[in-house]
Amino acid sequence: MHFFISEEVRGDKLVLKEEEVKHFRVRRIGKNETFGVIYEGKIYLCRALKIEKKEILCEIIDELSVKIPEKKITLYQCVTVELKTVDFIIRQATELGLHRFVPVISERSFRKKEAIVKRKEKWKRIVREAMKQSGRAHPVIIEEPVYLEDINPVHEENILLDNFTDGMRVRDINLSSKDFGVVVGPEGGFSKREGELLREKGFKSVLLEPYTLRTETASISILSILINC
Ligand code: SAH
Repeated sequence: MHFFISEEVRGDKLVLKEEEVKHFRVRRIGKNETFGVIYEGKIYLCRALKIEKKEILCEIIDELSVKIPEKKITLYQCVTVELKTVDFIIRQATELGLHRFVPVISERSFRKKEAIVKRKEKWKRIVREAMKQSGRAHPVIIEEPVYLEDINPVHEENILLDNFTDGMRVRDINLSSKDFGVVVGPEGGFSKREGELLREKGFKSVLLEPYTLRTETASISILSILINC
C-alpha cells in the first residue's frame, strides 16, 4: 500500500499538501484506488475525493491498526565523518522501528556541532520518507547532538557496541527488557579512554561476532536483533 502523511484535518477529511501532493502524483494513484494516510500517530485507509494542484482532499474509509515495537530503543550514534552514512542509518533505523536517535560527538567522530544541528532537517525528512515506505505512524525522535562524556546509562539496558573489548555476546543481553540505550562508535571507533569511561558509567560492552563491522552495519544489526528477539 502507498502511504502519505497529512498534517491537516478538514471536517471529516484529511488534506495532503506540498511534498505529499508531489509524491501522490509520482505514484500515479487512480481515482478509485485506496491508500494509507498517516495523521497524528494513526493510519487511515483513504480515497482521493478531490485532486487539485496544491492539495488533495482524502475521504477516510477506515482506521488501520498501528504497529508499535515492543522495545523502545535509543541509538546514541557517534556522527560519522561522512554525514551521508548517518542519513543511511536513520533511514534504515526508521524502517526497523528505532524510537529515538541521539547524534554523538566523540573524539574520532565528525565534530562540527552546527553542521550536525543543520543536518537535523534533512534527517527529519528522511524519517518521513522512511515512515511512508514502511507504514510507520510515529516518527523517530531526533535529538540535539551531545558529547560522548555526557551520555548516561538511563535505560533499563545500556549497551556499548565495542569491537575492542571482549564483552558480552548478544545472547547474554537481557532481551526481555523493554528499554534499551545503544552506543555505537564512528568509523574510527572509540578511543580507549572513551570505552573505559562508558563502561565505568555502567554501559555493558557487547561484541557482535565474528568480524569487525562498519559502523552502519553494527547499528543496523543490533537494532534488528533487539527489535525482533
Ligand atoms: N576502526 C575500528 C573499527 C570501528 S567500527 C577498528 O579498526 O577496530 C565502528 C564502530 O562499529 C565501533 O566503534 C563499534 O561501535 C561498532 N562495531 C563494529 N564492529 C563491531 C563488533 N564486531 N562488535 C561490536 N561493535 C562493533
